[in-house]
Amino acid sequence: TPAAARAFNIVVLPGDGVGPEVALAAQRVLTCIGDIYGHRFDFTEHLIGGAAIDAVGESLPEETKAACIASDAVLLGAVGGPKWDGAPVRPEQGLLAIRKAMGLYANLRPLQVSPVLAHRSPLKKEIVEGVDLIVFRELTSGVYFGERTRTETSASDLCVYTVEEIERVARAAFQAAEQRRGKVTSVDKANVMETSRLWREVVTRIHAEEYPQITLEHALVDSMAMHLIRKPRDYDVILTENMFGDILSDEISVLGGSIGLLPSASLGANGPGLFEPIHGSAPDIAGQDLANPVGMVLSAAMMLRHSFQLEDEADSIEAAVAAVLASGAVTADLGGALGTVSATRAIVDAIRAIH
Ligand code: ATP
Ligand code: MG
Repeated sequence: TPAAARAFNIVVLPGDGVGPEVALAAQRVLTCIGDIYGHRFDFTEHLIGGAAIDAVGESLPEETKAACIASDAVLLGAVGGPKWDGAPVRPEQGLLAIRKAMGLYANLRPLQVSPVLAHRSPLKKEIVEGVDLIVFRELTSGVYFGERTRTETSASDLCVYTVEEIERVARAAFQAAEQRRGKVTSVDKANVMETSRLWREVVTRIHAEEYPQITLEHALVDSMAMHLIRKPRDYDVILTENMFGDILSDEISVLGGSIGLLPSASLGANGPGLFEPIHGSAPDIAGQDLANPVGMVLSAAMMLRHSFQLEDEADSIEAAVAAVLASGAVTADLGGALGTVSATRAIVDAIRAIH
């Protein structure tokens, strides 16, 4: 019997496209974990993105925002799709707004390439086999949030970072490295940009003062883009600012062979985190039981670990997913024959088999 059974209030934002299908998969897996460990996961669904625009005319209704802030954690499927291309309100604005409202300043994207799937990578098997890294991307500042100007003949986007914004995401990355292989690679463009020089100074100081036992290296973003393709196994924790993180994490997402496998977590200071697969709404396969549920299911495992400190429970999900991937019980994006529902059932069965 579990030592300490607990109850958790989880807001589910299914969103658009394959979002509802994979969100349901995550709920099934969590319900199974709850049964085994004696936790109660209470799910409450709310509208976001295109679904919210269709229902109430805005991409982030006030009640969705309030429910997310009051929750223990948020699970998000995906937002957007061609249906809202010409719409005056963009579905993606809802996602940016909820990240901002929840103060989610650190975006975590782990990537592990298992030996059984390395052959599906566009890179040589020998290069990607055994890759195990995590990106910490600063999510609420930098050039994406700076002042913009536009005249007939010029345009500008302001990039601003404060010491405090750099410190908090740097600490999160160093803390993660302590639990991993003890290495942080901080990525910037300090040979050109002033914000990057500040970034490098602050990361260097936090390292020296608080995490001297961690190995810290600095890399320029351009050479990092090359190294990630040539020697992705060299990296443990990658720490970077908003725009560089956006670009590098898309680059990294192809190393593993399917975007449908990869989870993410967005964390703030004390409040709830938001957990979502890194893939989008995949309108080309939506509603056809084709979506790979693994990225969403692993996002739920990150929720258990990062928001609820349920390490064993998260380990169970990850072990079950690894077993299922190794067994070949996978969806079409990985060359398998299963649909979303049956691939999810395979994960649930694997969890029960472990216990
Ligand atoms: P966004 O702008 O929301 O990121 P996108 O079009 O850039 O959307 P995705 O929606 O992630 O990117 O889709 C990219 C490709 O990956 C599509 O061909 C899609 O079918 C495929 N894909 C995305 N997610 C999955 C999944 N869970 N399982 C299988 N294939 C997926
Ligand atoms: Mg995209």
